[in-house]
Amino acid sequence: MTSSMRFMMIATYFAVILTTLVLMCAYVIGLLSGNLYSGESVDMFAKANIISATVSEAWDVQPENSEERFANLVERILAGTNIRGVVENSSCMVLYDTNRESELFGKVYMRDVIKLALDGEQAEIISDGENGTKMISVAVPITKNGNIIGTVYLAQAVNNIENTVKSTRTSLIVFSALIVLLIGMLSLGMSYIITSPMAEFTEVAKEISKGNFSKRIQVRGHNEIAQMGETLNYMCDELSLLEEKRRKFVSDASHELKTPMAGIKLICDSLVSAENPNPEMVKEFLCDLSEEVDRLTRIIERLLALTKLDAGGTSLKLEEMDIRVLIDNVVRKLTPIANPRDIVLYTDYHNIEFKPILLDYDKIYEAVYNIVDNAIKYSPEGAFVELDITEKNDSIIIKITDNGPGIPENERERIFERFYRLDDSRARDTGGTGLGLAITKEAVAMHGGTIEVSEAERGGSVFTIKLPYSRTI
Ligand code: ADP
Repeated sequence: MTSSMRFMMIATYFAVILTTLVLMCAYVIGLLSGNLYSGESVDMFAKANIISATVSEAWDVQPENSEERFANLVERILAGTNIRGVVENSSCMVLYDTNRESELFGKVYMRDVIKLALDGEQAEIISDGENGTKMISVAVPITKNGNIIGTVYLAQAVNNIENTVKSTRTSLIVFSALIVLLIGMLSLGMSYIITSPMAEFTEVAKEISKGNFSKRIQVRGHNEIAQMGETLNYMCDELSLLEEKRRKFVSDASHELKTPMAGIKLICDSLVSAENPNPEMVKEFLCDLSEEVDRLTRIIERLLALTKLDAGGTSLKLEEMDIRVLIDNVVRKLTPIANPRDIVLYTDYHNIEFKPILLDYDKIYEAVYNIVDNAIKYSPEGAFVELDITEKNDSIIIKITDNGPGIPENERERIFERFYRLDDSRARDTGGTGLGLAITKEAVAMHGGTIEVSEAERGGSVFTIKLPYSRTI
């Protein structure tokens, strides 16, 4: 991919540079030769007009003397040039020719420009002469008293102009070739700088797709490519963290499931090996078996609940509700569990008229249920559990306070982790799975809320859930 990208980049550079250079050269050459030719012809017209004026004054000489007479005038003006000058009368008869070898004197010599000059025009033509040499020819009329009495014809081979144009063209081509070479090398370097990190990115991305998150990009500099590299590295960090969490979750879950399974196996083995077991004993074993199965079911239910929460915000079934209805339902459900242990559940709404809040009832019900259930589970007989509901900063605050053993400060963050228990055996005895608070935290977070735990004034714990009325996630 990268090599084709590199090729495309170089090809694009070349196409742009070549087109620019070719157009530029063509323009410069055109401009230069145009200027040189027009400069030369302006000069020739000037000379032709001077000759025309001078010859006109000396016109009334006898034709047979004209050659000598005009020779003085014309040669003086054309001295130092290689311009050929011809003076003709109105019948195109040559009265004088600087090129005496032509032997045109007294003969008719006709050219297109001469014809035009006889019509009163200042005519000019650039033509290809012998051996491919370029010729500029100009002709102007000779007038006397308003009548055209003859013409002055000048012609010059302009090899010098062609030579200048040719040498300029050669220099421009050499110069352009050097530029193309330089740009080629630069674009090769540039394309390498841009595409070589791409190859590294592709390599890392391939490793990610294979499940290997340990590879990282070597970030150099601070440009956009470096930023892309940093983002990819950050993605790898996050993925490896996620992978680690997933592994831990799977191993913890297997471990949790293994404990009740081992219990079930033990009970079954004991029953099988017991000779003539009495009905009382069988019943006792079966009760233990049922307890283990209940535990297994609880773990599986909670694991399923967590999986649903992991599906993210899209799985929320939001509806507007009065928070008091939800809290009252939790209290009603848990009162039969609290009462036998002499635990009293208080609810305080501070007479606030709560606005309806948009929530997924089942998820927030379970979140509050888990905390109140824990408060009852981990508090001694005769304890109290208070649910204090208020409003603050456009959020509903639910405070659940108990006077149980409390949670040490250094454990307060960790109790929200999956399968984390403070005291494994005590928590297991109370039927804990270590998943309740993890479920609670996820459910609250999905509603854009927060949960924290602190120490109650008279010992015990306070769990504070904050649920915003208007969610930002
Ligand atoms: P579990 O199913 O074990 O109760 P949780 O995730 O609900 O799991 O709680 C995690 C741990 O936090 C519990 O095992 C318990 O040790 C501790 N804990 C939770 N709530 C309380 C509380 N109100 N008082 C004391 N300890 C608590």
